[in-house]
Formats: sequence, C-alpha cells, structure tokens
Amino acid sequence: MVSIELITVGDELLIGQVVDTNSAWIGRELGNIGAQVDRIVSVHDTAEEIAGAVRTALERADAVILTGGLGPTRDDITKRTLAGLFSAGKMVRDEAVFEQVRRMTTERGMAFNALNQAQADVPEGCTVLPNRLGTAPGMLFEREGAGGEQKLVVSLPGVPFEMKALVEEQVIPQIRRHFALRAVVHRTMMTFGLAESALATTIAPWEEALPEWLHLAYLPNPRGIRLRLSAYDVEPQTAREEIEARFRTLEGYIAPYLLGYEPASVESAVAKLLAERGATLAVAESCTGGAISARITALAGASEYYLGGVTSYSNTAKTAMLGVSAADIERHGAVSETVACQMAEGALRRFGADFAVSTTGVAGPGGGTLEKPVGTVWMGLAWREPAADSEPQVQSFARLMRFGELREQNIERAATHALNMLRLHLLGFQEAFQQTGML
Ligand code: ATP
Repeated sequence: MVSIELITVGDELLIGQVVDTNSAWIGRELGNIGAQVDRIVSVHDTAEEIAGAVRTALERADAVILTGGLGPTRDDITKRTLAGLFSAGKMVRDEAVFEQVRRMTTERGMAFNALNQAQADVPEGCTVLPNRLGTAPGMLFEREGAGGEQKLVVSLPGVPFEMKALVEEQVIPQIRRHFALRAVVHRTMMTFGLAESALATTIAPWEEALPEWLHLAYLPNPRGIRLRLSAYDVEPQTAREEIEARFRTLEGYIAPYLLGYEPASVESAVAKLLAERGATLAVAESCTGGAISARITALAGASEYYLGGVTSYSNTAKTAMLGVSAADIERHGAVSETVACQMAEGALRRFGADFAVSTTGVAGPGGGTLEKPVGTVWMGLAWREPAADSEPQVQSFARLMRFGELREQNIERAATHALNMLRLHLLGFQEAFQQTGML
C-alpha cells in the first residue's frame, strides 16, 4: 500500500493559533483514492526542523507532502530548505511562474516587487506545480529510495484553498501516475437525533450481518453521527453495489434519523423537503443569534424557500418585531414555551411563511437560574394547518432541551435541534421527535 506522510510547517500551528485543517483534508482526499496517510507532523518554520522532518519521513514513506512556509513573508523557508536537500542549494527562475505572478499582482493592484518576483525562483530540477489561485507555486521532487524505489516529495502553499486546488488538479494525478493504488470505496450516511450508543443498539442486527470485507465506522460530532462503510481491495463496482444495498436496508431501521448521504446535513435535509413541497420558511432567533438563518443561507438556492429571519435578542424586540405578548414574557419569562410558540407564530405571520422555527434560551455562561440553568433552550415551530371549511389555521408547539454549559455548543445544538424539529414535522415523524435524545 502506498504510504504517505504529511508535514505542515508553521509556528502558528504549534501554538494553536491556526488549526491544521490541511492535513485532515489531504488525509481524506488521499484515503479516497486508495493511498494511506501514515503520519502527520507539524514543525516550526526553521530550516533544521523542516529538513529533519523531511529526511525522517523519506526513510519510511513513498511520498512526503509539505504545506506552508512558501510565501514571500516566510522568507521562502520551505523552498530554500528543499533546495538545500535536493538541488545542492541551487535556485533557477521559472519564467512561466514569473509571468503568472506579474499578471496576478498587477491585476490585484499589488506591487510586483522583489519579494513577489522571488516566488518565481524554484529549486533546480524540481517539477513546478503552477498555482492558479496564488503566487507561490507548488513543487515536486522525484527521489530514489535506498532500494532504488521511487519516492516523491511535494511542497504546497499553506493557504487552504490554494493547497486544495493543487492537490486535486496536480498532486493526485501525479500520485496516480507514480504509484499503484489500492481499490477503495467509501460511502457515508449522515444521521441526527440518536446518540451513539442508542444508534449502535438500534442498528446492531444490521451491523452484525455485514460481510467481513465491509468496514463500518461511527463518526460523531455535534451535528450528527456519520456512518461510513468502506471496502478495500474489492472490485469497485461490486463494492459500490453492496454498500448501496446495505445502506438501503439500514434506512429502514433508522428512517426518522436519516439526513441523507455525505455531504447532507440537517439544513440540507430541511431545504430539500421545503423545496419539494414549494413551502417557505421564516425564522425567529433569540439565543441562536442568527445561526439558523446563517446555516440555511449558506446553502445555494436558499431563496427558493427561505423568506427571512428576525434576531430578536431583547424582550422589546420580541414584542415589537414578532408580536410576543409583553405580559406573557413578564409572567413566564423570555425562556418559556409560550414565548417560543409566540415567536414562531410571529415570524410565520410577519413573513407570510408556511413554516417558522424559533429559539429562546440561556446560552451561557451567565444568566442561568436554578429553574432555568445555562443550556435551557425552548424551540418553537409554527405552521399553517389546512382546515376543511376555513382558511388554514396557524398552529404551534414548542419543545424544551437542556444542553450543557458551553455557549458555543449550546448555540450550535439549539440551531441543529430547531431545524431537526422542522424536518421531523415535515416528514410526519412527530413520535420520533418526542423521543429524540440530546447529542
Ligand atoms: P503565504 O504566502 O501566505 O506566506 P505560505 O505558503 O507560506 O503562504 P503559510 O504562510 O505557512 O503559507 O500559511 C498561510 C496561511 O495559511 C496561514 O496563516 C494559515 O492561515 C493558513 N494555513 C497554513 N497552514 C495551514 C494548515 N496546515 N491548516 C490550515 N491552515 C493553514
């Protein structure tokens, strides 16, 4: 199996100022083509650290991929180090890169100064991987291992979107060209609403019946649990068909909790259901502060069903913008079933929507009481119920959730559960909704 090691360069990664998302992304992409990432390291941006990491990785791996430390501001530390390792320190000017950097800096109104011009200097003998999205090109070095086997060293810019384009367009084709990759098929089902242990118990009979060559992985996060089925070294068409059939069976076990297949999410599932019936949505948010609207509008085509939202954080805004009764706020508190229902109904009427969801809660860290501790969230849902002999009637209900102490998580969970409440309602799964556990 092809073994790959990743080296990410930058002090900011080691002090936690930047999270190393590059490695996670590259690991996933390479896994999908049947290459295996065996080790990931992050190093300071010094020549000694980089050179040491590359030498050690090359002793073990078939290919080494570095990201970061290529831009002009880093004094080209990775590039100069690799030139020292593989090109006897010699740099040559690449005219195509020079021209591209000149064009890009001019178009962006930036100075084409000595620093930018130096981006076109590359270690002698490397293959230049042109970077159409930035000024620092990628570089590929072909080496021979101790046993005469071929090895690759690839250096890429640290900026994630530049790195991604280079991997997809140039590095993966190079890896395919140089190495024989194993056949691999993955498919991932997205679920929400059952905690990991409950999900595992529910699907145990299905899991036990899986053939040995199909591997199941549970991947939980606050937005749901992903179930990935993988097959290695099996004829891909057979593997795809078997995975498809197994997932079809699984759908029957967990229908209310099924969001779809990667990259499906609660919001994309809601979007699909609303679009299918030509229905519209409005949102009234207090403790989620616009998070629900942000997640809906992050999906392309949201204008088809999303009418708008009100972030009514204060009591005055709840009353003035959504028509929530001031007396009810006084009597029950802003974090209450009544207020959640009135917020959803207010948004429904105000926007003329078919459905509306609302949130009102104590996100924390302050503001909790004995009766309503931090993490208490009421989520409301309003809709127009068709009536036989009159106009549709506005109806609503609300549900209480008790999350934890962390503000960020409370907001994320409240937004996800509010959307899920609407999803279950649209699907007619009220019963499952009542049982939905906290994730
Ligand atoms: P630049 O021209 O900006 O100097 P570069 O190729 O030298 O580009 P770095 O300077 O190392 O790359 O990183 C640029 C930015 O890219 C960093 O500030 C950081 O925001 C992001 N970045 C770098 N490495 C990673 C990583 N491993 N994961 C996620 N983001 C990263």
